[in-house]
Amino acid sequence: MNLLLLQPEDLGTNPNRITLSDARTDHIRNVLRANLGDTLKVGLLNGPSGNATITAISGSKVSLEFELHTPPPAKLPLTVLLALPRPKMARRIIRAATELGAADIILLNSYRVEKSYWQSPLVSDDTLHKAMLEGLEQAGDTVLPRLSRAKRFKPFVEDELPSLLENKIGLLAHPYAEQSPPQAIKQDCVLAIGPEGGFIPYECEKLIAAGMQSFSLGPRILKTETAVSTLIGRLFL
Ligand code: SAM
Repeated sequence: MNLLLLQPEDLGTNPNRITLSDARTDHIRNVLRANLGDTLKVGLLNGPSGNATITAISGSKVSLEFELHTPPPAKLPLTVLLALPRPKMARRIIRAATELGAADIILLNSYRVEKSYWQSPLVSDDTLHKAMLEGLEQAGDTVLPRLSRAKRFKPFVEDELPSLLENKIGLLAHPYAEQSPPQAIKQDCVLAIGPEGGFIPYECEKLIAAGMQSFSLGPRILKTETAVSTLIGRLFL
C-alpha cells in the first residue's frame, strides 16, 4: 500500500485528524512498520491526497494528523470492456486495471463466459470494490473507476456500444487480427478484451459492426490477466 485511503465517513469533526482502529492500523504497524512521528501518504477517497504524521500509537489505534491538497493523478482516457473473467481471477484483473488508471470498467457477457460466473461472490460489487480500493492504494490514486456490468452481449453491443464509441477509438484485442496495435493513444478509447476462451467469431463481427477495430499483439496468446496489463501498457504508457 503506497497510499492510505480514508473514506469520507472516517472523518469526524476535525477534518485534519483521525484515529484509526481497523485493518489499516495493522498495515501501518506490521507492514509499513511505521512509528510515532513517521510520515505516511494518505488520500481521501475520490478526493485530494497529502502527507499524514503519526501523532499517537496505542494498542490497536493509530492517530494521524494530515493536510490533503494534492489532486489525484489523471486517469487514462480508457474504458476497459472486459469479458467477465473466471471469478478467481477477476479481483486481480480489476485491481490491475485500476492500478494502471482505467477510468471505466464494463464487465461484459460473452458466449464463453459461464453463466454461473455472474452469481459468484468473487465478482460481487463488494469484492470488486475492495479490489479497486487496493488498486488505488497501490497506485497512489484516490478516484475509483466506474464499474458496470453488461450481462447481455447483443443488446449491449447493438444498442449501447455505438453511442459509447462516439468520439472515441474502439479497439478489439484479438490474437488472430492482422493489424498491429496503435501506440501512445491520447484520445478516449474503449478497449475490448475477451474471455479465457476468446470471443467467438460472431461476437468479433458484432463488436466490429458497432465500430471497433481489431488488432493483435502478435502470435503469443496471453492469459487475460497478462493481456490486460500488457495491452494497457502497450497502448497508453
Ligand atoms: N483461446 C483464446 C483465443 O484463442 O482467442 C485466448 C483468449 S485470451 C486468454 C483472452 C483475451 O486476451 C483475448 O480474447 C484477447 O482479448 C486478449 N489477448 C490475448 N493474447 C492476445 C494477443 N496476442 N493479441 C491481442 N489480444 C490478446
